[in-house]
Amino acid sequence: MERFCVAGDFVEACPYGSGHINDTYAVTMDQAGRTVRYILQRINHRVFPDPPRLMENIHRICRELGAGLRRDGEERSSRRALTVVCTREGAPVHQDDQGGFWRVYYFIEGALGYDVVENHRQAFEAARAFGEFQRLLADLPGPRLHETIPGFHDTPRRLERFRQVFAEAPRPRREAVRVEAEFFLSRHDEASRLVSLQRQGLLPERVTHNDTKLNNVLIDQETHQAVCVIDLDTVMPGLVPYDFGDLVRTSTTRAVEDERDLEKVRFDREFFLALARGYLSSAGAFLTPLEREHLVFGGFLMTYEVGVRFLTDYLEGNVYFKTAYDEHNLVRARTQIALASQIEAVRGELEEELAQIDRA
Ligand code: ADP
Ligand code: MG
Ligand code: MG
Repeated sequence: MERFCVAGDFVEACPYGSGHINDTYAVTMDQAGRTVRYILQRINHRVFPDPPRLMENIHRICRELGAGLRRDGEERSSRRALTVVCTREGAPVHQDDQGGFWRVYYFIEGALGYDVVENHRQAFEAARAFGEFQRLLADLPGPRLHETIPGFHDTPRRLERFRQVFAEAPRPRREAVRVEAEFFLSRHDEASRLVSLQRQGLLPERVTHNDTKLNNVLIDQETHQAVCVIDLDTVMPGLVPYDFGDLVRTSTTRAVEDERDLEKVRFDREFFLALARGYLSSAGAFLTPLEREHLVFGGFLMTYEVGVRFLTDYLEGNVYFKTAYDEHNLVRARTQIALASQIEAVRGELEEELAQIDRA
């Protein structure tokens, strides 16, 4: 911590939170008898190849969010957006002697992230927070943000990669996933729908979060309102249906991503409606008609895309996602297929309900 502009005496550092990507610590400092906490993170260098560029993005984003919230008259804006603490040299990231990259944020007290959605209120609040996040960043000045993971939501490219890996996989493994592979391969037109609308200039590129899970929004423990969107590593240029879609993927079922009992992977329409209400309450004002029309489709597509990635990793021998057993990625791919098929089956109805909320 002595590398960063943090006052006081070091008290302790403890591993913190349940993130899967970075190493996160809560650091306590004693500032003239008052204890103040910070979040210290080692950035996952394997997932994010260029941490300094990533931190350049995050630093810009945090300042823009803070300025926007102050403009909105927010009194406690430092709690409503992450604040980057720079090094004594003024950089937003510190590289240690072993090549590790570290960053520090203010700790947001009195708020927690939830791993599994428990009630409609949480779904509404999370979606409202991500909509507000996009709204505040809609006019980010300056150059385009760096793509921290190039081609992150290039679904057709992900499908193409799957096709190759599937074709080259050893026969027993290929046989074991024939049904799942067929599900993905037969929907190749859907896979390219959003990127081709973007290429034609019909869907605008925006600043999107790209990891819109419930546990990346801190929710106030007393008011139960969303306080702050966190986990900004994947914030980069993207499409709005990706963010809403990933919310749908992760917050419309109580089943865990690696649930083996597919009966439990049930799409919950009430959670979906809560997401739609929350999201439109804050993002409704800037969305174009075509963006609105593709929000539900985004839910299908993000579930499909993650499923493709799980199955690809299974065929490749589990090299990307952490696994506890050999079939883990196959089990995960199946939960995504179960959810994607349910969304697909009622897509028209959901679109109608969303349009009604929008008109209200
Ligand atoms: P990962 O990419 O590994 O998910 P996150 O940035 O989401 O990393 O951080 C991991 C966890 O640490 C979060 O789920 C949250 O519980 C906690 N956390 C992160 N930043 C803060 C913060 N500024 N204040 C309080 N808690 C935080
Ligand atoms: Mg996280
Ligand atoms: Mg993350």
